Amino acid sequence: MPYKMNDKIVNLTPYAPIEGDYKIRLDANESYFQLDPKKLKTAFLQNFNRYPDPFAKKLCKSFAMLYNVEEGYVTAGNGSDELISLITGAFFSEGDTLLTLSNDFSMYKFYGDVFGIKVDVYPKKADFTINLDNVIDHINKERIKGIIFSNPCNPTSLGMSRSDILKLATSVNALVIVDEAYMDFSDQSILDICHRFDNVIVLRTCSKAVGLAAIRLGFAVANERLTTALRAVKSPYNVNAITQSIGEIVLSDHAYIENCKADIIQNKNYLYQSLLGLKCSTSGIKMVYESQTNFIFIEMEDAKMVHGQLLAHSIAVRLMGKHLRICTGNSQENEELICVLKTILKGAEHASDNINT
Ligand SMILES: *Cc1c(COP(=O)(O)O)cnc(C)c1O
Repeated sequence: MPYKMNDKIVNLTPYAPIEGDYKIRLDANESYFQLDPKKLKTAFLQNFNRYPDPFAKKLCKSFAMLYNVEEGYVTAGNGSDELISLITGAFFSEGDTLLTLSNDFSMYKFYGDVFGIKVDVYPKKADFTINLDNVIDHINKERIKGIIFSNPCNPTSLGMSRSDILKLATSVNALVIVDEAYMDFSDQSILDICHRFDNVIVLRTCSKAVGLAAIRLGFAVANERLTTALRAVKSPYNVNAITQSIGEIVLSDHAYIENCKADIIQNKNYLYQSLLGLKCSTSGIKMVYESQTNFIFIEMEDAKMVHGQLLAHSIAVRLMGKHLRICTGNSQENEELICVLKTILKGAEHASDNINT
């Protein structure tokens, strides 16, 4: 008899981001800021024969100072992805239900499925906002063990208010995991008070505003009891020595991070206004969502065609059904995107004019 693989993994396929070399990459919500490698030199001047600090104490301290939280509430992870995986795997048992919202970050359901827990997907309203009272009722009625969602949301770019998040946390007897991957671009964080709740974990990442996607670094912030559990279930040396050192250097440079954030937000606002302009002057864009993040979510007449034509111009954005998710580039990249997009949309209009006449 051939070896029979576990049913839940037998049909899975590896995560595959778009491949190929594109001149302008606006598909993965990364930062366009490239750190000067010279600033990171000291990260490589250390002993590599010894294991790194299992609790990444200096790194957690830099994070704590930057965001004004107690370092005792901070756990570092190999990307916030690792923390999502850890939490779904360790805080839920078979038979427990994890609630996710739709649309939201796809990895939540993915990890829930991998760990064999039930994942219940609660739909958002047609405008992608959330009826909070209904969600709270649902959690309590269905005895949901935990809820995970991004705030602000990837991919919709919309944010929930801090007061709504706090209301959710106090209204349910369930773990509330708030993924604040994009909160550096918004102002509704609950980082400062999440330790007062016995059921709240906030996740942050260095992959977006901080511009360190390559080194894989994320953080969980929660009260002492949850933090102890998280530290206990993670693998001992989950954050490697180079990542710890680079993270410490960059997170300690508050002026650099403030400058990155301000610049990214400014370019995002330009992109937003330009897309609104294109929505008025062409017929290809149906909706431009207000953005609390570093990307814009737009509904298109023909998203697939536009996505394909942008790729043909060596510009990568993310195709999501009827929508495109476009991360802001620097000002030059944004200008080029808008120029190419305008040509594509005007071209599509002429093509349909010709068919109509
Ligand atoms: C990008 C992203 C992450 C992943 O962050 P890493 O720290 O790079 O693993 C997590 N959550 C959301 C919503 C994201 O968009």
